[in-house]
Amino acid sequence: MSRTLYTARHLIDGTGRGARADHAVLVNGDRIEAVGPANSLAADDAHRVDLGDATLVPGFVDAHTHLTIRPGEGDQHGQLRRPHVWQALRAVRNLAAMVDSGVTTARIMGEQAGIDFTVKALIESGELEGPRLFVSGTALSATNGHGAALGVADGVDGVRHAVRTNLRDGADHVKFFMTGGVSSSGTDLYAYHYGRDEVRCIVEEAHRAGRRVAVHAHGGEGVTICAEEGVDSIEHGGLLTDENVAAMSRHGTALVLTKTIGHHPDGIERGDAHRPDILAKVRASRAADAEVFARVLGARLRFALGTDSMHGLFGYEIAWLIEHGVDAEAALVAATRHGAEVIGIEADAGTLEAGKRADIVALTGDYLGEPRTAPDDVRLVVKGGAVLRLRP
Ligand SMILES: [Zn+2]
Repeated sequence: MSRTLYTARHLIDGTGRGARADHAVLVNGDRIEAVGPANSLAADDAHRVDLGDATLVPGFVDAHTHLTIRPGEGDQHGQLRRPHVWQALRAVRNLAAMVDSGVTTARIMGEQAGIDFTVKALIESGELEGPRLFVSGTALSATNGHGAALGVADGVDGVRHAVRTNLRDGADHVKFFMTGGVSSSGTDLYAYHYGRDEVRCIVEEAHRAGRRVAVHAHGGEGVTICAEEGVDSIEHGGLLTDENVAAMSRHGTALVLTKTIGHHPDGIERGDAHRPDILAKVRASRAADAEVFARVLGARLRFALGTDSMHGLFGYEIAWLIEHGVDAEAALVAATRHGAEVIGIEADAGTLEAGKRADIVALTGDYLGEPRTAPDDVRLVVKGGAVLRLRP
């Protein structure tokens, strides 16, 4: 096996133990062999890659995204109704943008026609370049729900059949829509569309197969029901109430924040600029942000990050956290280790530690001194030991 020694002036391993100077990562095949002071790891037979004034960090985990959508082009649900070939082909450039931004693992939260199963297989066979994917197949939505463009399943028997169909096709997790969403007309962010009996059935079917359940939900009673019924993660959570946060704490429910799509000028704001009802929801959730996020921090909820199809802008998620009072290292842990925990792969990825997959990113400069996470600041992307990007 060939060995490579990656060195840089700074290293943060994602475990939360702080930055270390002049440390290196020794990679053997697709695994990390050792992390330690550069001089102690010097191996004569190892190829050396020195990043200089940069910070080595774990590869980023985008815990909530899609392959085919581009929010800045508007009408995301309409994009999911376009011809399947059109959707699949657009995934190629989206995947490249994800890699450019340092994402080495991505959790896909709903696609049409098995596109996510096929794209995952093509990446694994080396035909396509992209992050390592975890996929859901068609997400479940009620007939009158927010994600109804993806797949409709109603009633206990209906959701049971839909979950089993996805599992048969190879789903790594189950995704369903509970409350309304920002990017659809006529859905209210607090209203919810599945009853407790349907939620319970989705969770029971998924957990029996050893799969996790993620739910699109913003706030209100629908979130509490999901937490109580054992859903593993709340996605977005833009309007979480005190009661929601308390229920999530009690049940150990994780939160996946997706702030870029609602805040970045190239997100929903641009794509749906001509839809006043959607823009009103964008403004309402922005206005609630400070209060809701204070609640999340106060309850010490564990959170991971997702771009929700803002391909290439993962660094914006990290920057948003730092702007809202999270310290730079904790923001990095959310972007790496917590993402791996939400997916359930923390034994294998999410930190720079011996024995784990060699998923490594180098960011320009001293990250803790001055966090720089824009696409141009990503200088190295290593996925499973393979160098996908290198800008010395
Ligand atoms: Zn989404």
